[in-house]
Amino acid sequence: MTANLLDYDLDGLARFCEGLGEKRFRAVQLFRWIHQKGASSFDDMSDLAKSLREKLKGVAHVKALDLVSQHISSDGTIKWLFDVGGGNAIETVFIPEDDRGTLCISSQAGCAIGCRFCSTGHQGFSRNLTTGEIIAQLWFAEHFLRQHLQRDERVISNVVMMGMGEPLQNYAEVIPALRVMLDDHAYGLSRRRVTVSTSGIVPKIDLLAEQCPVALAVSLHAPTDALRDDLVPLNKKYPLDALMQACRRYLAYAPRDFITFEYCMLAGVNDQPEHAQQLVELVRRYGAGAVWCKFNLIPFNPFPASGLRCSSPAQVQAFARILSDAGIVTTIRKTRGEDIDAACGQLAGDVKDRTRVGERIARQRSWTITPVATDRPSVKET
Ligand code: SAH
Ligand code: SF4
Repeated sequence: MTANLLDYDLDGLARFCEGLGEKRFRAVQLFRWIHQKGASSFDDMSDLAKSLREKLKGVAHVKALDLVSQHISSDGTIKWLFDVGGGNAIETVFIPEDDRGTLCISSQAGCAIGCRFCSTGHQGFSRNLTTGEIIAQLWFAEHFLRQHLQRDERVISNVVMMGMGEPLQNYAEVIPALRVMLDDHAYGLSRRRVTVSTSGIVPKIDLLAEQCPVALAVSLHAPTDALRDDLVPLNKKYPLDALMQACRRYLAYAPRDFITFEYCMLAGVNDQPEHAQQLVELVRRYGAGAVWCKFNLIPFNPFPASGLRCSSPAQVQAFARILSDAGIVTTIRKTRGEDIDAACGQLAGDVKDRTRVGERIARQRSWTITPVATDRPSVKET
């Protein structure tokens, strides 16, 4: 079977090369060609011995994802839809800001957690992505953007695992992908700039602390077990007390000295002043002064099947005020890419998108659609 070299972190690639009778430094060269230069053809890797290039051609490839569509929002956000086979598609979103470029990547096709307010959750679980499929999103986006922006240096400075899926339910494939993101021979991102977002798989939070501590975001969404059981069904397995204790343990390893709590604002469900007050009490119970965490309030992005509504801006502001008056750093997430359904929780990865594209362009004039089905970054073109 042909090995996909995007599946390996550097140690894995070194073992693969050793299997071919090659030294570790060859793996470093190969790794740099793939991730730093975006090469997918062994012929382009000019400083590798010809004999090695020929050997590699017989047993390995750099397998990109099949791009279905690209949507560019009026605010510069780009959403890519990739076909991962079997009728499944995943989405990746690039969010440019003045001082950084953030890539939001998916870890699963669908999600098994089934949160009430999330369209990925409503879609159900299809399968875990492989390490190669996770890293291919960054590989593609970074080199595609460099090529199109005509930049030699890094474009993506931050990665957030906040796309489709629950990353900690695909732990074994996510960890090598994180290692590739952090590796100086690949993307060289700092641990503070790589964020895993989780609905709260407690044992995996502890494992992550031990094996690859990156920035942690926890999707809280409710201050009490009764409400959280309803919104995030996983809470029945790992209730708030266990989750909060895991967050406190994580702090000893975290690259930042706080945990981010994400909180999706749902009108009349979890957005009342008493909910904010209960949150203050909750975080104080687990750490004096409540300075060990930050809150990120996410305006709910509605989708028809949810039957839920977003809180009004005034309600969100009032909620934020209660938290910040209690000394908790609180931000309200700016919605990006809404016109292309790229905002949080709108990623449904629906393959039917393919047929809806034309219809949507007609509706949304701010979109630019580029047919990029075969667009793979190539070293020669950069
Ligand atoms: N499964 C992980 C990561 C992916 S979801 C997690 O749940 O953390 C990324 C973030 O988007 C989470 O905080 C999630 O709660 C939020 N989200 C999901 N659906 C949303 C929606 N419809 N509107 C706003 N935020 C949503
Ligand atoms: Fe899954 Fe996260 Fe969506 Fe919940 S919010 S269903 S954990 S992707």
